[in-house]
Amino acid sequence: MDTKNNISPFGPEQDMLYMELALAQAQKAFDANEVPVGAVVVDESGEVIGQSYNQVECLSTQRAHAEMLALEQASTQLGDWRLDDYWVYVTLEPCSMCMHYMKLSRVKGIVFGADSPLFGYRLDKNIPISVYKRDTVRVVPGVGAEKSVNLLKQFFHKKRACSDKRNRKGETTLTRSQAGA
Ligand SMILES: [Zn+2]
Repeated sequence: MDTKNNISPFGPEQDMLYMELALAQAQKAFDANEVPVGAVVVDESGEVIGQSYNQVECLSTQRAHAEMLALEQASTQLGDWRLDDYWVYVTLEPCSMCMHYMKLSRVKGIVFGADSPLFGYRLDKNIPISVYKRDTVRVVPGVGAEKSVNLLKQFFHKKRACSDKRNRKGETTLTRSQAGA
């Protein structure tokens, strides 16, 4: 998928506003101790018809990525899985699973924030993109990327701080037991 000449029909300013909504969803994930990723689904008139955040831990399933949940919400509201002419705004580059799902849902385009160097769909060289009958999904990367990266950094910093604290406690316990306390 070539992303060079892709733009959304809403324009850069409106893209940023939708991304702010997705970032607000990501903040909800952060507050719930989930990896902070948020997504919104917008119809062709610009109305938001789905929004959600990553809930993998809470729902105990890898399926609960932000864009999957936002798309499900949109489909439920519409009573149709076909989301032609809809756009998805997501704070992090989608993984392969979500990219497949969005293509199968026939979305028109995807605007994403930060690159995902570990799980981004662009790393998956095995996706035979060309087999898709409808391979016209447009992708606009890098919108609000800095804010998304900052939130992710804050989250993993907090996680590391907690696990360091746990490790230090573990060391203390070990020392005590070694000392026969
Ligand atoms: Zn995903």
